[in-house]
Parts: sequence; structure tokens; C-alpha cells
Amino acid sequence: MSSAVDASLRTPNQLWIGGEWRDALSGKTFPVLNPATEEEITQVAEADSADVDLAVAAAQKAFESGPWPKMSVTERARLLWRIGDLLLENADELARLETMNNGKPIFESRQVDLPAAAACFQYYAGWVTKLEGATIPVPGNYFNYTLREPFGVVGAIIPWNFPILMAAWKLAPALATGNTVVLKPAEETPLTALRLAEIFETAGVPAGVVNVVPGFGPTAGAALVRHPAVAKIAFTGSTAVGKEIMRAAADTLKSVSLELGGKSPNIVFADADLDAAVRGAINGIFYGKGEVCAAGSRLFVESSIHDLFLEKLTERAGKLLVGDPMHPKTRVGALVSREQMNKVLGYIESGRGEGARLVCGGEPAPQNGKGFFVKPTIFDGVRNSMRLAQEEIFGPVLATLEFRDVEDAISQANQTVYGLAAAVWTRDVKKAHKAARAIKAGTVWVNTYNILDTASPFGGYKMSGFGRELGKHALDLYTQVKSVWVDLND
Ligand code: ADP
Repeated sequence: MSSAVDASLRTPNQLWIGGEWRDALSGKTFPVLNPATEEEITQVAEADSADVDLAVAAAQKAFESGPWPKMSVTERARLLWRIGDLLLENADELARLETMNNGKPIFESRQVDLPAAAACFQYYAGWVTKLEGATIPVPGNYFNYTLREPFGVVGAIIPWNFPILMAAWKLAPALATGNTVVLKPAEETPLTALRLAEIFETAGVPAGVVNVVPGFGPTAGAALVRHPAVAKIAFTGSTAVGKEIMRAAADTLKSVSLELGGKSPNIVFADADLDAAVRGAINGIFYGKGEVCAAGSRLFVESSIHDLFLEKLTERAGKLLVGDPMHPKTRVGALVSREQMNKVLGYIESGRGEGARLVCGGEPAPQNGKGFFVKPTIFDGVRNSMRLAQEEIFGPVLATLEFRDVEDAISQANQTVYGLAAAVWTRDVKKAHKAARAIKAGTVWVNTYNILDTASPFGGYKMSGFGRELGKHALDLYTQVKSVWVDLND
């Protein structure tokens, strides 16, 4: 088992405000844990509203004056590209830090999160020089054109499941479009965001352009949402907090984008390549320990193949290596916190109580008596009305349901308040495309699961939020359009 603190890893633990490392004004700190060992990694400065005020003032100053607004687009593009390069150069170390703090398997942090975070900065580096307005054909002797301008200070509030990747998803497009940012990482996982601040400094990002304020949601997060000088809030997290943020942002009429929870349907038709679908179902729910907003947590299996599919699925789930997240072969690491583990175990109990049949897992899997591990868990005989099928568990718990035909599958799949993602498995092209249109979700995968790319938009329908991150769509989240009229009459 890995120890709590790997001495070769740097763990910055102060606030990054206005280009300086500082303690919280209150002097308070909070512990950051390794969820695989339950040991404390370090104490981190705890920002509250006074520190957020300082960070917003620094971001505002950097937006209005200093080198940032004067920087040429080529220079800004180079800066973002350099950040991507630095992430790649430091990928081994950053991946280990991510795994130590979050509990996710090292193969995920090293092979997916870090390369994807670097790619995100380099993708948006390309957009810096391609942001254009339009000339509009208006009546009369006028010249009318549009400018796409940054909002100013963006408040970015991110969750603990993909700490560095979520930071990249917000920071890269926000900076590409010329904003400045105050980033509040999740209290469970502030370490890679702070290392990212060091990388920004090394890359030459001017002071105050990015500020990182670790702290708790109701204090630091809420202060950012309330702050009158913050023009936009970009949030990823739970639907409950998303609603609170939207309500709070109403007072200052901030622009808000929300990427929230999900209960995504993964639909396997009888004509699918069943072995591929089994792999997809496993990846869909157990990747990232199921702490993934797009997790395929409702598995719909066509009745005629149900027994065979369940057999294959259970066999494969049993082969997943649960344990030390630092081990390269581990596929299911530790859940992020005791609280999260207890929540997941609570749902497992409730599933039993609701009459679902536990097929495998269903219990904690501590390693040498420690760590917030839960065995990959599969329930069968789930009905769509059960809590197990309706509430986001955010853990390695799969609810399996049956369906009769395409209509039944689509109808059940859409019976949820969420709409983040979905997948269909079939060899019938027509069926696949019809289902893709009929499912109310921001992403639909056909014969695959969990594939994402910086160039392709990601976001939710219904209570999974609004606004599209990634791709050119994210540029809209961080810019406002100005219409300029010029009188050409003599
Ligand atoms: P999760 O369920 O994934 O922990 P949360 O929605 O609770 O997600 O948290 C996501 C982020 O939102 C975290 O950075 C957290 O600190 C922050 N947060 C929680 N409550 C609030 C709040 N009332 N206002 C602003 N941010 C908050």
C-alpha cells in the first residue's frame, strides 16, 4: 500500500492570489487526506470570504490593467500552449499527486487525466487567434459589426472527481478568451490545482490572471458566487449545489453555466456485440470508481439476452483489481472520502431494501484495514422507479433493468430528471441513430462509452445543467457579444 505522503511529490499548501503564495487571512488550515490510506497528506490554507475578496480584487486588477489585456493574441496562444507542454513534462508527478489525493487508479490519472488536461490547454491555444466577430448587413448607411469580448472575472468552482481535468476545462477556454479567473477547487482535492498554479507561474502567466483559493463550498464557494465583481460562474458539481448557485447568482445577475449530476442509461439491445457491450458496461460504471457524472449507472438489457449478459458482466466485474491506486494494474481505487463511501454504502442498503437483487460486491473492501474502497457492485431486477435507478449514487454501483423493445427502452431511459449522457449498443444502424435522437441527453454514445475529446461539446439536458463545455461551444460560455454601429452618412 502506498504511504500517505510520497516525499518526491511537491504539495503546495497555500492560497495563490495576485501572483503570491499566502496563508488564509484567518490563519486557518484544513487537512487533506489520502483516501487509500486515510492518512493526512498536508494541511492546506482555508480561504473564506475575506480571501476570496482579495483574489477577486487581484483578478479584477489583472483584467483591467497590467500585461494581460495588452498581451497579443499570439503571445496568449503561446502561453496556453506552454502550459500544456509543462503539464506533459510534469505528467508523472502530477498524476501521482492526483492519485494520492483522489484515490483514482494511477493508470487513469497518468493515461487519461493528465494528457487530456494538457490537450485542453493546447486545443484552446489554437482558438485564441481564431475568435472572430461578424459584419452584419443592416439597412441604412451604417457599418455594424460584432466584437466577442471576455466577461472579466470568472469564478470557477470544481468538484473532486477529476480535479486537474476540471480545472483545465474551465481555465483553458476562460483564459483563451481573455478573462481572468478565481478557481475554487473542491475541499477534498486541492493539491493538483495548487501545483497547476505553480505551472502557470513557470509558464509566465501574469500575476492575478489566475488565483486559486482552496476552501469549503458554503464559505469560499458561496463568497465567489455572491461577489459583485465576479461576472460569471462556471460550476461543475452536484445538482443540489447547482440549484443553490443559480439562486445565489440571481442577486448579481451573473452569467452561470452548470455541469451537474447524471443517471445515464446504457442500453444493450439483443443484436449488439455482447462482449463489447459488457466491456462498455463495466467501463461505464467502474471507471473512475463510478465517481463520474456521466457514469452509465442504469444498465438496460433487452429481456431476451438478460441472463447471458448478466453472467458475462458479473464474471468480468469480478476480475477488476480493487486496491492500491498507485499500482499500475489497479482498476478500481478508493472513493474520495469516508463521507462518499458511507453515502454509497447507504444506497447499497437502500437497494436491498427496495427489493433489488445484489449480484456482486455490495461491501467495503479496505486494504490492510484502511481506505475508502467499495467492491464493484451490481444489482439486478431493478425497477426504474427505485431510488437505485433515480438518484445519483456517484460510486461503483450498477443498477440493471430489463426492457422489451426499442420504445420501452427509450421511454424508461428518459424517465429521469437527468440528461447528461447515454449509450446504445446495437448492430442496427437505423436503431442506433433513432435512439440517439430520441434520448434526452447531452451526449449519446453508440457502441462505446465514456469517450470524450476537447473538440467535442459536453454538457447536460434537463437537471444535468446547461451550457456546453469543450469544443468551440465553450467559447460562448466565456464571451459576450458587443454590437458596434458606425454612422457612415455624410
Ligand atoms: P460533490 O457532490 O461532487 O461533492 P458538490 O456540488 O458538493 O459536489 O461540490 C462541488 C463544488 O462546489 C466543490 O468545490 C464545493 O466546495 C462547492 N460548493 C459546495 N457548496 C457550495 C455553495 N453553496 N456555493 C458554492 N460552491 C459550493
